Amino acid sequence: MPRNQKSQIVRRLQENWSMKILRALELEGKSPYFRAMQTANSPRITMDGRPRLMLGSNNYLGLADHPLVIEGARRALERFGAGSTGSRLLNGSIDLHRELEAEIADWFGIEDAIVFTTGHQANLATVGALVGRGDVIVSDSDAHASLHDAAKFTDAQSVRFRHNDIDSLVEKLAAAGKSGRPTMVTVDGVYSMEGDLAPIDQVSEVCLEHRALLLVDEAHAVGVLGPHLTGVTELYGKADRTPLRTGTFSKSIASTGGFVVGSHDLVDAIRTNGRAFQFTAAGVPAAVGGALAAVRLIRSAEGRDRADRCLANARFLRDSLASLGVPLAAPAVGPGGAETVTPIVPVLVGESLRAFATWHELYERGVFAALAHYPAVPLDRAMLRLAVTAEHTLADLEEAAASLHTVLKLDAEHQLVA
Ligand code: PMP
Repeated sequence: MPRNQKSQIVRRLQENWSMKILRALELEGKSPYFRAMQTANSPRITMDGRPRLMLGSNNYLGLADHPLVIEGARRALERFGAGSTGSRLLNGSIDLHRELEAEIADWFGIEDAIVFTTGHQANLATVGALVGRGDVIVSDSDAHASLHDAAKFTDAQSVRFRHNDIDSLVEKLAAAGKSGRPTMVTVDGVYSMEGDLAPIDQVSEVCLEHRALLLVDEAHAVGVLGPHLTGVTELYGKADRTPLRTGTFSKSIASTGGFVVGSHDLVDAIRTNGRAFQFTAAGVPAAVGGALAAVRLIRSAEGRDRADRCLANARFLRDSLASLGVPLAAPAVGPGGAETVTPIVPVLVGESLRAFATWHELYERGVFAALAHYPAVPLDRAMLRLAVTAEHTLADLEEAAASLHTVLKLDAEHQLVA
């Protein structure tokens, strides 16, 4: 088609910087995206036909290929079939959805829970059901894309406060308070890129003072943090002061789906008004059965053991990289200002083009890491986002640290060589 006959949208896409870079990387076979595995997700995988060390998954507890989780998924598949073929509201609910909701509510020690087809939808449906025209949503600037999408999805006014900055949060809440508008605050428990924690003690106190409804997304914290492994809110002892907690099954819970927990009133409002809950098909039986088996495992002694192993592995990898002078994001800070380990170990690489090249050299050495670059992180803060699981061995992690050290090409002062 002659160029001048293309729509403005297609022409704009052709000028798009990210698309140009990705096309160029794909042509050279160096794109970090859409790499396919030929095996189950575990520390040692086959990807693009070659054995590789997996350091880029969110399979924190190593449950994705656990026999009991596979068995849970298989039994659900055999009993209920392959598809859900309808919305939870009308014709897609099965007993297993309800059983999983009861299990999650009991685990979180709260009145009610609902499960969704994905974690993204859990945030969209929860926020969308509860706020609207005339209301204000105040979100941490680094909150997950699904929380920002959720805010856009409503007619409420959406404002952002500076990441983890309580003064900035108070300023935004005070402004909303002056106009007397109902307000919701949304934060992540563990931030998905840098692995740092929201200061939930201060956030929840400020929300109570300003009568704002707090939602904490526990996606990366469920299964690894807190006395019962329900996340950061529990780690801070603020579970009973946090009206809404959402999460996903796609990380520690090793399946696909999402959930929200809260009071009967709040959760019922989401059941009846949550468009992203009602106007999409229910999670398929195998995903729900696998998630139920994983939640039960996490609640058993094995869950605690796996969480401890995962965090010990994260500390070991962080220490190994630091001792080699590899530049890392600052360690997470938790209750009382104490250093707190999360499964996410972000290696700072600088600007995007360098990060793509480093990623590819690492991949050629047989290590897969996830790459985060602008706009997921600021322009000069591209990173290799490493994530450990309970199943990695110390030898795996030593190998990864040595490979990273080699590909990063640090000078004698441990600085990245320009
Ligand atoms: N919240 C956070 C903090 C996440 O990191 C993610 C997934 N990356 C989601 C929500 C969405 O979860 P899901 O993948 O189940 O849609």
